[in-house]
Amino acid sequence: MSELNKIELQFKDKIKAYLNQNSFNTWVKPLKIVQIENDKVSIQVPSKIHIDYIKGQYKSVFEKTLSEILARENPVIKFLIDADTDFSFEHKSDIDTQTKKTKILPKTRVAPYKETSLNPKYTFENFVSGNGNETAYVSSLQVAKNIKNTQYNPLLIFGGVGLGKTHLVSAIGNYVFNNEPDRNILYLSSDILVQQLVTHIHKNTIDDYKTYLCTKDLIIIDDIQFLAKKEKSMQELFHIFNHIYNSGGQIVMTSDFHPNEIHDLDDRLKSRFKMGLITDVRPPDLETRAAIIRLKAEEINFNLEDDIVMFIANNINTNVRDLEGAVKKLYFYYSHFNKEIGINKAKEILKELITSKKSTLNIDKIQDIVSEFFSIPKDLLMKKTRTKEIADARAVAMYLCTTQLKATTTSIGVHFGGREHSTVSHAANKIQKKLNNKDPEVTKMIEEILNVINLSTC
Ligand code: ADP
Ligand code: MG
Repeated sequence: MSELNKIELQFKDKIKAYLNQNSFNTWVKPLKIVQIENDKVSIQVPSKIHIDYIKGQYKSVFEKTLSEILARENPVIKFLIDADTDFSFEHKSDIDTQTKKTKILPKTRVAPYKETSLNPKYTFENFVSGNGNETAYVSSLQVAKNIKNTQYNPLLIFGGVGLGKTHLVSAIGNYVFNNEPDRNILYLSSDILVQQLVTHIHKNTIDDYKTYLCTKDLIIIDDIQFLAKKEKSMQELFHIFNHIYNSGGQIVMTSDFHPNEIHDLDDRLKSRFKMGLITDVRPPDLETRAAIIRLKAEEINFNLEDDIVMFIANNINTNVRDLEGAVKKLYFYYSHFNKEIGINKAKEILKELITSKKSTLNIDKIQDIVSEFFSIPKDLLMKKTRTKEIADARAVAMYLCTTQLKATTTSIGVHFGGREHSTVSHAANKIQKKLNNKDPEVTKMIEEILNVINLSTC
């Protein structure tokens, strides 16, 4: 192994400690240290995005790590883009980087992250679809299979943190990458998009950027909630979206919230989003949680007994990232101490994780639990919808809020879309009456929901 390779290995090893696995795979793994000359370290990266991102996010970590390894006080990092750069639209003189002079190699397909910035690890095959994410899953698959001909353009997936949004939209990209090699794909997190928009607005090259984006068949923009308030960027983005749309490109996006709930998001962007499909991901139900835990264990060849799987599924209902965290924690113990894990040991290892994930009960949590129980979108509990199913679920949620919390009917009303306190009392009384009359269906339902509430807060 050459000296450079050794240093590169050491460097990556050290950086790993600062980044999560995804970020490491995307931003650091593909880097190559190609030259070290005195204080100057030349690092080859797959694209300009890498340079922007690394400079924005990891500059000091990079410098610190290299300084430790090379025993030099202030190493200077120089980035080179390799021959396959995805940013050929840039005027070379505009970038403060050099394109590495390499002999032209025959063009071969490179790994997705290199060509598209996609994380190759997220696929449809390793995504568990179930209650909570089914619509998002099916529409993503539809888009992936009919990339130039979908009715869902743009597709926007919204929902809480750690529920699989990035996974699903990346799966669309990876599917197209693998099945339609001629398609041009680009994954952008919204902070990178904003950075690029700002740079191009500043340099007056926004038309080049638009032209460049229009060469893409599929553009994935992750976490668009961060676009809020970036007014100039949003204006440009609106025009860019129209351009891409008119040139037949598919746009796929994720957001932590429904566009209506992102304050300061351009109204024209919102209505553009609504021309496609907006779908949500919600926390998985028990069965889906168990399936996810099994899959995550299987992926690392870790044999987990059923009682442990169910223990995790029953006790962690926040999001999938936390489920994954629990599996990894057990696996760490198992591989570190080389010991089989029984249910009691598992409980002990996960004790801290579980207590910290259990929050105290509040109105929001009751609404989450009730909407999951009835399989209806939570926001409908707050809206004016009067269909029987929604009205019943709303009444149950109001009943539980009045009996399980020390909240006044006035404050409960506020959390249900600004309803009057008398509406809350009326709904809660209706359920109470049915319980008093021993209505079997309502009694069983309330019992079951209370069980879930107890599980998630005990
Ligand atoms: P989000 O973008 O919604 O915050 P991510 O897509 O980053 O969430 O998901 C967090 C983690 O959980 C990732 O490792 C992802 O692979 C995993 N994950 C989420 N949902 C599922 C699912 N339904 N099946 C398998 N893994 C999932
Ligand atoms: Mg995400």
